[in-house]
Amino acid sequence: MVEQERSLAELRETFRSGRTRGIGWRKAQLRALLKLMDDNEDQIFNALQRDLGKHPVEAYRDEVGVVKKSANYSLSCIDKWMAPRQGRIPLLFFPVRGQVLPEPLGLVLIFSSWNFPISLSLDPLIGALSAGNTVVLKPSELASECSSFLAKTIPLYLDRKAVKVIEGGTDVAEHLLKQKWDKIFFTGSPRVGRIVMSAAAEHLTPVTLELGGKCPTILDSLSDSSDLKVAVKRIAGGKWGPCSGQACIGIDYVLVEHKFASTLIELLKKTIKRFYGENPKSLKNLCRIVNKHQFDRLRNILEDPAVAASIVHGGSLDEENLTIEPTILLDPPLDAEIMTEEIFGPLLPIITLSNIHESIEFINSRPKPLAIYAFTKDETFKKEILTETSSGSLTFNDVMIQFICDTLPFGGVGQSGFGRYHGKYSFDTFSHEKAVLERSFFLELESRYPPWNEFKMQFIRLAYSFDYFRLLLLFLGLKRRFT
Ligand code: NAD
Repeated sequence: MVEQERSLAELRETFRSGRTRGIGWRKAQLRALLKLMDDNEDQIFNALQRDLGKHPVEAYRDEVGVVKKSANYSLSCIDKWMAPRQGRIPLLFFPVRGQVLPEPLGLVLIFSSWNFPISLSLDPLIGALSAGNTVVLKPSELASECSSFLAKTIPLYLDRKAVKVIEGGTDVAEHLLKQKWDKIFFTGSPRVGRIVMSAAAEHLTPVTLELGGKCPTILDSLSDSSDLKVAVKRIAGGKWGPCSGQACIGIDYVLVEHKFASTLIELLKKTIKRFYGENPKSLKNLCRIVNKHQFDRLRNILEDPAVAASIVHGGSLDEENLTIEPTILLDPPLDAEIMTEEIFGPLLPIITLSNIHESIEFINSRPKPLAIYAFTKDETFKKEILTETSSGSLTFNDVMIQFICDTLPFGGVGQSGFGRYHGKYSFDTFSHEKAVLERSFFLELESRYPPWNEFKMQFIRLAYSFDYFRLLLLFLGLKRRFT
């Protein structure tokens, strides 16, 4: 831990030196990160393969490609983001100049999770560096190959006096949380999110919490069979595609009308076979469950007799390889763990309703999700979902693509977290917007100072309630009346 404290002292010193504030340094770090990704693509694929069994195509789509896209986007926008913005100042203070100046926060701590161990570490890092901060990155110990890759490789490319990777589990994390930070950016579970937030309160440290939860998908009856096929493919891809369902914005469960459930199940079964193969004993293109603890958690969920009775497809588990077959459950009990906790695995409950409009009440009676997906062509229903539900994001007729849109904020609401990042939102998350005003010594308004009189009272009342062009005119009139 002495080593940890020495590292933090060095990072604070680097920040104080002002080196990280310049645009040249920021761009150099982003370019170095891009080079790191280019030079080490195979090593990243290998690390993701060993930690999670992630196929290189999935690894590029969800991790390497995401980071490169994000770094390139920041590089192309950073001049604009850093430029001070003019603030419109009331004419009352004329002559005056007002600006909003983004400045770095200082030393920031980033905690990442194991399911996308590269992108969820480096994407926030891009934001922190673009904004000119020094950084400690604490990757998840559960994706140990990726954590060790980041710890070994980052110092070879980035400014090692400004960015440090500190590896370790709960003890290391707890010790880090005792330190004073200028910002903590946490990706992980709501349980640990609470621990992070209470530790941050000690030093009044601002936090961003990127948490999880149950993300529902509403499937309206789509009359056109080709639309339905597209919807089912996207649902299957969004449930089992990214990290075998171990994804914060992955689909947790599907809401559908009773009459439509059997069609959906048949189409999903066909899609599963096409994506992952016919034989449940040798499934292809599926990540494994991250560790035995998570595997046992999912097995326990399925062993609940009432839940087991609701399985309509899949359900086989391979303990040796830590894989679970894509599994579909029809109407499991709503008070079972599968419907009360985030599933975070390849189990897909289908919940049937008499009318799809009931899905709004179903969602609203549970914690606010990180994402809601809705497949529908009914414009009135879309509007109802939009205005009557609350979630970190809402996507119509597709799943998960919101994650790769740099121009949209990514983050939760309520129990799914708070704060946002991606693109400019990342830059803002790691910056402080400083208000800067510069007045002239010319033109002094005596009404702001004592001794008080009725004229000054009227003047101040008007100053707060009128537009300032009119105020100047009134000022002259009032002055004549009271003096
Ligand atoms: P986690 O909360 O167990 O761990 C996240 C981080 O916190 C890790 O770096 C871990 O080392 C650290 N940590 C663990 N215990 C700690 C403690 N007692 N004190 C301090 N730090 C501690 O989460 P996880 O298992 O890595 O990830 C799964 C969860 O993360 C799910 O709930 C998922 O929905 C959520 N998640 C959210 C997003 C998002 O962007 N919103 C992305 C991925 C995962």
